[in-house]
Amino acid sequence: MELAGKKILVVGLGKSGIAAAKFLQARGAQVTANDAGPEEKIVAAAELKAQGIAVVAGSHPTALFENSDLIVASPGVPLALEPFQKAKAAGVPIISEIELAARFLQGRLIGITGSNGKTTTTTLIGEVLKDAGFPTQVGGNIGTPLISLVETSQADGFTVIELSSFQLEAVESLHLFAAVLLNITPDHLDRYDSMDDYAAAKANIFRNQTPEDLAVLNADDKRVATMQTNAHKVFFSCKRELEEGIFLRDDEVISRANSTERSLISRNEIGIRGAHNLENVMATLAVGLACGASPDSMRETIRNFKGVEHRLEFVAEINGVKFYNDSKATNVDSTIKALEAFDKGVIVILGGKDKGGDYAPLVPLVQTRCKHVILIGAAAEKIATALENTKPMHRAVTMEDAVALSTRLANTGDTVLLAPACASFDMFDNYEHRGRVFKDAVLAMH
Ligand code: ADP
Repeated sequence: MELAGKKILVVGLGKSGIAAAKFLQARGAQVTANDAGPEEKIVAAAELKAQGIAVVAGSHPTALFENSDLIVASPGVPLALEPFQKAKAAGVPIISEIELAARFLQGRLIGITGSNGKTTTTTLIGEVLKDAGFPTQVGGNIGTPLISLVETSQADGFTVIELSSFQLEAVESLHLFAAVLLNITPDHLDRYDSMDDYAAAKANIFRNQTPEDLAVLNADDKRVATMQTNAHKVFFSCKRELEEGIFLRDDEVISRANSTERSLISRNEIGIRGAHNLENVMATLAVGLACGASPDSMRETIRNFKGVEHRLEFVAEINGVKFYNDSKATNVDSTIKALEAFDKGVIVILGGKDKGGDYAPLVPLVQTRCKHVILIGAAAEKIATALENTKPMHRAVTMEDAVALSTRLANTGDTVLLAPACASFDMFDNYEHRGRVFKDAVLAMH
């Protein structure tokens, strides 16, 4: 793909848009960066201009769109907007930042998607490959825009990519050596019309794969297990033994291929808690084996892995009560997984901005594992209705109140768990902010 001299418009100036504009400029394109927001809100506006990139803020001028040779659009930008439609009609190709990166990245690419577990698994795969001695870089939805990894990608190395369903909707030439699909559970149903549409976006991860490539699939998730792909499939299961793939026998994680078995790690050596994290570990092992990482090296990495902040993160033990921060549990399924990681004695903090999901699946776990439920945020009443007649429910206005209340309700041996099952935007900037406020409130009691 020739970029030099091309008129390229980058629309949406978040992190990935800014990175794309810089990349294109460095490759000799004539770049215009456009955002509908006011210029003072575009953090990198001055920096982009200093590099010779034109910045057009405040609107999406149709003429600019129609007269470009290529448009690179950020995932948040609605392609239904008229300027995009006009550009499309004029024959201007519109691609995403991930698609742009996919056309230039060197070396083998590993992609991870799923409703939950992407960041944990992406991080762990990155660590496993690095520790095994391969040139490895990690990016995508996890933070570093994929396009900023192009320059450093190596023909003999790996790029490990976290992919959201929004990002997967907009890929054409992404070709993954290994594609991991962890699970498909209701999330973002405020954006997709149905679970089928959501699953279809996720299935795009297998696009362009050949039988020499690998698809790592969760055998315990029906929608995932029945996915169609040309790639060689490797299944993993926490629930049953498989003829081929990765599974649990007693407490050992076993890999079986061509009727040969080997034990990879014992469950109690795994540093991260819960059956869901066992799934993440199994997916990682499948990828690691395919990439040629030694089982001993992988075992060492997984033993030492402490997890990612805000994902079932241990905060402190105060007067015999353990506090866990799972602020990233922004949907019902991840809250279920968090509750399943504890047998009993849980005081759970739920609530936030509702994402259109159904809270009823929480009922059996609240019944069996929780002592009290503390409700915060805009979804409090909806959750209270769904959990009626389960366990005592309490309302708190702020996170500090919720934590203070939890310490009054908890006894020695209990667990206080923030796993809200909701987005955070009603009370906080984002889930990281929510998690930090929770941790600060807990640590203030120390
Ligand atoms: P993502 O990047 O997909 O949001 P994370 O690794 O950040 O995934 O975890 C998000 C939430 O889901 C956390 O609350 C975490 O504890 C939970 N979780 C992690 N792995 C899984 C899994 N395999 N299945 C279900 N829930 C998971």
